[in-house]
Amino acid sequence: MRHDARVLFALAGAIALIVFLIDAFTPLDIAIAVLYVVVVLLVSSTTSRLATILTAWSCVALTVIAFFMSHDEHYSVGAIARCAVSLLAIATTSVLASRNQKNTATLREQVQLLDLTHDAIVVYDMNDLITFWNHGAEEVYGWTAQQAIGQSIHELTQTHSSVPLDEIRIEMLRSGRWHGELQRVRNDGTAVVISSRMALWRDAKGKPRAVLATNNDVTVRKQMEGELQRQKDELRATIDTIPGMVWSSSSDGRLSFINRRWNELGVTLAENGGDIWRSIVHPDDYAAVQHAWHEAIATGAPFENVSRIRRSDGVYRWMHIGAEPLRDKGDNILRWYGVNTDIEERKQAEQALARSEAFLSDAQRLSRTGTIATKLPEGEMWWSDETYQIFGYSKLVTPGFHLILERSHPEDIALVRHAYHQSLAGAPIVDVEHRLAMPDGRIKYVHYVARLAAPQSAHPEYVGALMDVTERRVSQEALDRSTAELARVTRVTMLGELAATIAHEVTQPLAAIVTCGDAAQRWLNRPQPDLKEVGQSINQMIRDARHASDVIRQIRSMAQKRDPSHTMLDLNGIVRDSIELVRRELDGHRVEVDADYACPPLQVCADRVQLQQVIINLIMNGMQAMSGITGRPRKLWIRTHRFDARHAQVLVEDSGTGISAENAGRLFNAFFTTKAEGMGMGLSICRSIVEAHGGRIWAESEEGRGAVLQFTLPLDEEICREQ
Ligand code: ADP
Repeated sequence: MRHDARVLFALAGAIALIVFLIDAFTPLDIAIAVLYVVVVLLVSSTTSRLATILTAWSCVALTVIAFFMSHDEHYSVGAIARCAVSLLAIATTSVLASRNQKNTATLREQVQLLDLTHDAIVVYDMNDLITFWNHGAEEVYGWTAQQAIGQSIHELTQTHSSVPLDEIRIEMLRSGRWHGELQRVRNDGTAVVISSRMALWRDAKGKPRAVLATNNDVTVRKQMEGELQRQKDELRATIDTIPGMVWSSSSDGRLSFINRRWNELGVTLAENGGDIWRSIVHPDDYAAVQHAWHEAIATGAPFENVSRIRRSDGVYRWMHIGAEPLRDKGDNILRWYGVNTDIEERKQAEQALARSEAFLSDAQRLSRTGTIATKLPEGEMWWSDETYQIFGYSKLVTPGFHLILERSHPEDIALVRHAYHQSLAGAPIVDVEHRLAMPDGRIKYVHYVARLAAPQSAHPEYVGALMDVTERRVSQEALDRSTAELARVTRVTMLGELAATIAHEVTQPLAAIVTCGDAAQRWLNRPQPDLKEVGQSINQMIRDARHASDVIRQIRSMAQKRDPSHTMLDLNGIVRDSIELVRRELDGHRVEVDADYACPPLQVCADRVQLQQVIINLIMNGMQAMSGITGRPRKLWIRTHRFDARHAQVLVEDSGTGISAENAGRLFNAFFTTKAEGMGMGLSICRSIVEAHGGRIWAESEEGRGAVLQFTLPLDEEICREQ
C-alpha cells in the first residue's frame, strides 16, 4: 500500500472513531453519524470496492451501535429519524462510491490496455504539455510517465520535422488529424525517427482540448529503407555501367526493364511498349531474332543470337543478345534476364582475320610459300594449306616431321634431320635448303626458314616459312648457264678486237724462232760448227716457242667453253699478264701505262680466265675513253692493293672523257653503250663475274677528267676450299 493511502486510511479510522465517540457518548441531538460518509469516501478513494463496502457496513454498524448505546429504551422519533438519515446517507454514498470505483477500475483497465501496445501513445494538451504517456512511449523515448507528464512534448523530445510544427498544428485544427514523420531525441541522446499519427480531441463544446499521438519508432525501418535504396541505387548504377544493354522481361517475353545503355540508343520502355526489338533490330535480322526468342520462350532454353542493333545515330552495330530464364521452385519461368553485348569490334576483327587469312592463303599460293609452326618439345606441327600442297599431302593427314622426312630427297635426309635437331636444341633461326623427292619422280627444291617465337615460354614455338624454290632454282641455273655463255661470247668478241695484238704476240716469237733457226743452221754449216752458238740459238728458240704457246694457251682458254674453276691466284700476276695481252693495243693507241702492284702480293681465290676478262675489259674501256683525247697525255694507272682486312682491290684509272652523271647509273646495265660499235655487255659481265666471286665493282668519275673503274675481291680462302 502506498504511503498516502496509508495516511488516508489512518485519517478515515480516526474520523470514524471520533464520530462514534461523539455519537455514542455525547448527548448532542444532531445526525453526527452522517460524517461516516467522509470515512467511506476516504476509503473508496484509495482502495478496492470490497474495502469500501466493508467500510460502509462498518459505519452502518457503528451508527446502529452508537444509537443503541446513547438511547436506552426510550427512542425518540427525532433520534430514529437522525439515525435513519445517517444510515441512508452512508448507504447512498457507499453505492455511489462503489459505482465510481467500478467505473474507475474500468477506465484504469482501458488505460492499462493502452500500455500493452508497443506503440508509443502520448496525449498532450493544447499547450503541448504531456498528460498521458503510455508504456510504449516510455520504451520509445526512455522517459517514464512520471518524468514526462507535465513537460512540453516538443521540448522534451526536441521534435524536428520537415514540416514546421506550426503547420502541423494548423492542419490538426483544420482537419483534426495529421500523419507524418518526426525526428526526435531520446532520453539517452540518440536520434530516433518517429512515424506519428495525431488526432485532435475536442470537448463537448467543440473546443480543442488535447492531442492524442500514436508514435512508432521507424528508425531501423528507415535505416533499412535507406540501405535498401542505396543497394538499389548501387545495383542500378552497376547495371547501368555494364558495357552492355541489360534487360529483363516477363515470362512471355515482354520487356519490363532496360538499363541506361538502352536510353543511349534513344530507347525508353514507356514510348515503345512491346515493340522495342522491332525498332532497334536490323530489318534483315529481325525475323531470326523473333524466331529464336519465341523458341527460347517456348522451350525455356537459354536465348542466344547475334544481330545488328541500331544506335541513336542510325548506325547499326553487331551485338550478341543473350538471355537466361529465372525459375521458381516449381521450375516455372518467372522472368528472363538478358544482356546485349556490342561485338562490332570483334566482328570486324573476325572479318579482318578472315580477310587476312584469305590474303595470306592467296599470297602463299602465289608465292609458293607455306607456313609450318612447330611446338616444342613435343614437335607437334601445324601446316598451312600451301605446305600440304608443297609436300603433296592430303589435308587430312596429321602433320609431323616423319612426313617431311618421307618426302625429303635421300641425299638430303641428313641435312633435314640436322635442321630438325637444331630446332629441338632451341636455335634462334633454322635455315635449310633441300630437295624433295616427290612420289611422281619430280624433284622439288625447298627453302625453309624458321624463327623461334617466345623462347622464354614453357612451350616455345618455331614459326617458319617453307618456300618452293624449284622454279627459281631452275631459272637461276639457266641464267647461270646463259651468263657463262654470254661471258664466253664477249671474251671471244674481245679476242677479235685483240686480233692484231694476238697475231703480233704469236708471230713475233714465231719470227724469232725462224731467225734463231736460221742462225743455228748457219752456225752449224760453218766449216767449224760453233756448237755453243747453236745451243744458244736453240735455247732462244725454245723460249720463244714457249712464249708463243703460252699466248696461244691463254687465248684458247679464253675462247674455250668451260665451267669456271676457282683457284688461289696471285692478283699482281694476273694484272701483269692482262696488261701484256693488250700491250700492243695500248701502244697502238699511244697509251702510257703506269702499273703499281701491291706488296706483298695478294692472293685471291678466282677463276683466272674470268678475272683476266674483267681486267682486260676495264683496260680496253679506259683506252677507248682516251682515244679522242688530245692535248694531254693518255695515261692509264693500274693499281692493286689491299682494300681492307678481307678484300683486295684493283683500280684502273684513265684520263679520258669521264662518265656523265646521267650515264653513271646505268653503266653496268646490259646493252648500255655509248660507242657506235659497242655491245654494252662488257661492264655488265664484269659485274656478274665480280659479284659471283663475292666482290663488288663500281665506277667513280668526274666528267671530262677521266674515270676510275675499280673492283674488290675477297681474300678469304674459304671460297676456294668450299669449291
Ligand atoms: P661497250 O664497251 O661495248 O660500250 P661496256 O659495258 O664495256 O660496253 O661499257 C659500257 C659503256 O660504259 C661504254 O659505252 C662507255 O660509255 C662507258 N664506259 C665504260 N668505261 C668507261 C671509261 N673508262 N670512261 C668513260 N666511259 C666508260
